[in-house]
Amino acid sequence: MTIAPLSTIGIIGGGQLGRMLAVAAAQLGYNCHIYAPDERSPAADVAVSWTRAAYDDAEALRRFAAQVDVITYEFENIPFEPIAALTPLKPVTPTPEALRIAQDRVLEKSFVDGLGARTAPWAAVDDLDQLEQALARIGTPAILKTRRNGYDGKGQARIHDPADAASAWQAIGGQPAILEGFVRFEHEFSVIVVRNADGGSASWDAPENVHRDGILDTSTVPAHPSILAQADAARALALRVAEELGYIGVLTFEFFAGSDGPVFNEMAPRVHNSGHWTIEGAVTSQFENHIRAICGLPLGSTKLVAQRVEMRNLIGEEANDWPAILSDPAAHLHLYGKRIPRPGRKMGHVTRVG
Ligand code: AMP
Repeated sequence: MTIAPLSTIGIIGGGQLGRMLAVAAAQLGYNCHIYAPDERSPAADVAVSWTRAAYDDAEALRRFAAQVDVITYEFENIPFEPIAALTPLKPVTPTPEALRIAQDRVLEKSFVDGLGARTAPWAAVDDLDQLEQALARIGTPAILKTRRNGYDGKGQARIHDPADAASAWQAIGGQPAILEGFVRFEHEFSVIVVRNADGGSASWDAPENVHRDGILDTSTVPAHPSILAQADAARALALRVAEELGYIGVLTFEFFAGSDGPVFNEMAPRVHNSGHWTIEGAVTSQFENHIRAICGLPLGSTKLVAQRVEMRNLIGEEANDWPAILSDPAAHLHLYGKRIPRPGRKMGHVTRVG
């Protein structure tokens, strides 16, 4: 089914990913309607219409569905059931099943393990007893992560000694969790793939990602040679998952470059921060190809347009450096229109091509 330009795309979530999706959609002649609980949001600021309501407000979601032609989402920490309930009303892409899996670290790890991924040793942990047993099996160092609602390193505690089990359990708020063995890696990278309804797919060069304080700092292509050697295997896994789910749209997988090949970290059923460089650095950006895929249009080329592209996030007060950034004529500045530069908050990014 083709959803033609001039139609309305409904986007659940109001952050910067929704903003950049809405800009890409506008370029192709679509209108966007944003659904988010916030009084104002980066995405609603650039969209034709928006609904302000809670993510679990079934009635508001139904009204939203009635006003749009296709529904997508830019945020995975939204309740699954009310979103899945919209599927008889309007196409919801990517499939809410991807959302259900990606929002729970235990479901996610089991699912990709079943498709042949290599993951860090892991165990589901529901209480302190289970954490102690898991530590005895997996060993230290290890990382305890909440099953749900973790992002940018939040909801995580590192455990260096089994004696720290109780304090780690307390640090994550004593909620259902996953314990992961610590992966010794030299580099982190992601693969970003896009698949359309015909089963056609494409992917971008795999960026090398550097994190600072648990938050993405830079994404660079081309990646380190050790990543390039692993990227095809990583991409093949992402495409296997996409096919298994009948996935339509952009799908992101994060990996550690281990000494024996890629180790899966996590997946995001959406466009991703590590793909922002594609706006200026690739023939077609992740945002445009997501819109093309969910609207049943042909995918655009994902080829790199330069020798080297680097994206750097502007976190908190770093966004105040915009005058200096703009004094570099080669810098592409993106600001998300967020008013308050809280520490750790993603306020914008800057991309340098070539
Ligand atoms: P996550 O929220 O799971 O992506 O974790 C945030 C960051 O913590 C990752 O990008 C890594 O830098 C680090 N990290 C997470 N899990 C592990 C692991 N099992 N071993 C080593 N480092 C990890």
